[in-house]
Amino acid sequence: MQNRLKQKVAYFSMEIALENDIHTYSGGLGVLAGDTIRSCADLKLPLVGVSLASKKGYFRQELTPEGKQIEHEDPWNPSKFMQLLPEEVTVQIQAREVHVKAWLYNLVSQTGGVVPVYFLDTDVEGNSGEDREITSFLYGGDERYRLKQEIILGIGGVRMLEKVGIEIRKYHLNEGHSSFLALELLLRKGMDLAKVRDSCIFTTHTPVEAGHDKFSYDLVKEVLGDAVPMDILKNLGGNEQLNMTLLALNLSNYVNGVAKRHRDSSRTMFPGYEIHAITNGIHAYTWTCESFRRLYDKYLPGWANEPNLLVRVDVVPAEEIWQAHREAKKRLIDYVNTAANSRMDCDALTIGFARRATEYKRANLLFSDAEKLKKINRKSPVQIIFAGKAHPRDYSGKRLIEQIFSYIERLKDEVKIVYLENYDMNTAAMLVAGVDVWLNTPLPPQEASGTSGMKAAHNGVINFSVLDGWWIEGWMEGTTGWSIGPHPEEHVTLEERNKREIDDLYNKLEYIIAPTFYTKRDEWVKTMRNSIGKIAYYFNSHRMMRRYVTEAYF
Ligand SMILES: *Cc1c(COP(=O)(O)O)cnc(C)c1O
Repeated sequence: MQNRLKQKVAYFSMEIALENDIHTYSGGLGVLAGDTIRSCADLKLPLVGVSLASKKGYFRQELTPEGKQIEHEDPWNPSKFMQLLPEEVTVQIQAREVHVKAWLYNLVSQTGGVVPVYFLDTDVEGNSGEDREITSFLYGGDERYRLKQEIILGIGGVRMLEKVGIEIRKYHLNEGHSSFLALELLLRKGMDLAKVRDSCIFTTHTPVEAGHDKFSYDLVKEVLGDAVPMDILKNLGGNEQLNMTLLALNLSNYVNGVAKRHRDSSRTMFPGYEIHAITNGIHAYTWTCESFRRLYDKYLPGWANEPNLLVRVDVVPAEEIWQAHREAKKRLIDYVNTAANSRMDCDALTIGFARRATEYKRANLLFSDAEKLKKINRKSPVQIIFAGKAHPRDYSGKRLIEQIFSYIERLKDEVKIVYLENYDMNTAAMLVAGVDVWLNTPLPPQEASGTSGMKAAHNGVINFSVLDGWWIEGWMEGTTGWSIGPHPEEHVTLEERNKREIDDLYNKLEYIIAPTFYTKRDEWVKTMRNSIGKIAYYFNSHRMMRRYVTEAYF
């Protein structure tokens, strides 16, 4: 047992969000990875993280008055946050030896637990100019660039952990980006598939086809070489192209999706594989705002490292819940009014919608009938805050932002709406705590889990969402929030779905949400309380990690 505890789980992720100013994340996947590391540190789990340094970041978003997205480099300085290790490993890329170094960040918890995270960096003396850039941009460049990054992450990561002397008993592949680590293990274990599988755990994160990396075998041969014979590689990664998800599926003994519904759609996508479900969670302390932290500390001491205690939220007086919310809301509204030169009102029903700007998230659904929105607003004021980045090559995502901007302009004399620039961890934290209602309108079944709604619930903010991802598991109509559109068990045409979603969106807003907010404060606070006691108590990363430990790691 002693020996087993010395051996660690290695958690590999292309992006990890440790702090707002460490720009090694783009969105949900990275924030989840950060929350995973934070919970492991709190719980003192023997785990280490591996990622890329991404020293020029993902990108900083600037939006023109028309809503055109301009992307800027978003550099950060690793030496401000972490320590460059003396160890160096090499990885062969295009038959060159590429040198890889690592920055060590020790995440220290209030409990005294420590999780080391290694950020791999090819910006090393001795590398060619081109190779020095491999770990510069998160999700930047072309296919070849991405392939090189994934080789550094997977193969370089395994070698670096060995070099720094950490004994690994399990490798957790957070998404298929790190699947090459399993190939490296295969070579080390004498091509014994069973042994590799016994070491690997794979979490898949998206049912969207484009989210699964695929590389042509010509490219793979050129960049990676042929240390692993082509016939074996094709057996594991697919005949036509190297599919990184397939590679991970074939080389892992434990595979899971990130919500129950996502497990089901993954099983359909990849028939013949046993796929489990561990529904995502978020790090309770990180995503709870100051005023609610104080409230929980007062009435539910110990909640931060035992978020299940939030189930007892009934001991907190309603008036104090409302006051804690008012404080978070004021902070957000002050920020928005300054940052976006707006005149939002702390007493008005405030709706938040912030997430990656990409087509399936349908940020524009709320504008399906702009006249209706105006009418609702005349009866009882609503104000809306948007935020989100589109991937630099997601052109329809960028158009979506411009579309929202044109609605903002069209409605500007009647409905107060803003779009905040450069969505990041800090703006996310402010938004999920400061709005009254958290809106989510993905096109099912494309939202694997979603996590921002869980963050909202930790701050007593109420979810109003399409039944997809985690919300299917968190939703109780009128008790924990409200649904939009049909239940996944109803099989409806796209047209019928759309109609019912738009009906729910406007009708619930007009006849349930706004009247409750403005005239039935007791009922409103009861629903806020249920967000905490019936959602947050469960949808946290402490619960999630305990499940990984008992079901996947051991
Ligand atoms: C939580 C978070 C996300 C993920 O939100 P979803 O609801 O899963 O889309 C994305 N970006 C940032 C900055 C976040 O904090």
